Amino acid sequence: MKKEEDKQIPATMYVTHIPENVKFSEHFSSLMLSSDFMATAMEVSALSLLTGIAWVYKIQVEHSKTLFEVAIAMWSLSLFKRIYNNYLEAVYCTYPKNRTQPVKEHALKAKKDLAGRDKEQLEILVAQDRLNFISRFCLDLFIYFMIPGFYLAEYSQPCTLVRKVLQLLLNHYFMSFSMYWFHRAQHKNPWFWKNIHSLHHWAKYPVSRTTYQDHWLDNFGMAVTGHIYAQILFPLDGHMFWFSRIVRVCESLEKHSGITGNFNLAYAAQQWLPFAAMPYHHDWHHEGYKGGNFSFAALGGIWDQLFGTRRTGRVPQPLNKTFAGSKNEDQVQFLDTSFFDGPYTCFIPIAAITVIVFLKVSMGHI
Ligand SMILES: [Zn+2]
Ligand SMILES: [Zn+2]
Repeated sequence: MKKEEDKQIPATMYVTHIPENVKFSEHFSSLMLSSDFMATAMEVSALSLLTGIAWVYKIQVEHSKTLFEVAIAMWSLSLFKRIYNNYLEAVYCTYPKNRTQPVKEHALKAKKDLAGRDKEQLEILVAQDRLNFISRFCLDLFIYFMIPGFYLAEYSQPCTLVRKVLQLLLNHYFMSFSMYWFHRAQHKNPWFWKNIHSLHHWAKYPVSRTTYQDHWLDNFGMAVTGHIYAQILFPLDGHMFWFSRIVRVCESLEKHSGITGNFNLAYAAQQWLPFAAMPYHHDWHHEGYKGGNFSFAALGGIWDQLFGTRRTGRVPQPLNKTFAGSKNEDQVQFLDTSFFDGPYTCFIPIAAITVIVFLKVSMGHI
């Protein structure tokens, strides 16, 4: 039976309760990440309006896909995000043995939700959820009109599949590199930590829907320094770009899923890469709160290994047995990057990347 305190948390915040022992087939009940009607209504209205305008006026920017195609891709990504989130939570409920943290630590705590956040924090996150959508929607449209060729229709030269795959890998390794430094800076600068990034870390026992529950500037900054910078410097054509976005959605949701193993499809597919990160690295990043100033990387955890910030956390031995299968992986460090741990020096790498991106944009379409 639920405790009296738990009932005080509004039912609209679905994050408050994921029942134990739910059958897989019974769990696809909540389509919304936070069950906030306002956020969902805004998203449906904005996307409908955009799709209608794009279809009626046949808008297309030079070198880019049509705005209608971009709008359809935005619908698809939004829907996919919800479906995959529910899949991961269904796995989480159905297979407690696959959880990264022991089941007892996920028990509902007094006045806190499953991820360890209290009522006040959840209310702040619902407000941020709405701002997240507005800021990301405006950003996507701004990029479409201001950077011709960002949503690249096709490469100017014919491109083989092998080359496209290599370009995808290059794009993702760079994206991971750029996001690594932005993420690490948010931990090292006290103002950023206190006012922006700590909101995401309120979730000490993450489940997949906590993925996008953060300050809108955090989400916005990750998008800019992540797939936007990567697409400008290492452009992918239309198909590969949206495939890459889908992989990123899977990866983001999986590393917060609270489960370990092959149910995490994107991580399972990339575990053969050298020093690949796994979801338990990011789980530990959350569990350790500020003390867990490690494992900042997304896909392609080689950056954590290279810069000496990799920690496996609860998992006593790495589960991915290939290149990352060294027991001492936590201790291996190739470069001393402690200079970038200062409250201001932490911004040097991401500032340098930003300058390079702006130089390329200033030279014309990408
Ligand atoms: Zn963090
Ligand atoms: Zn996280």
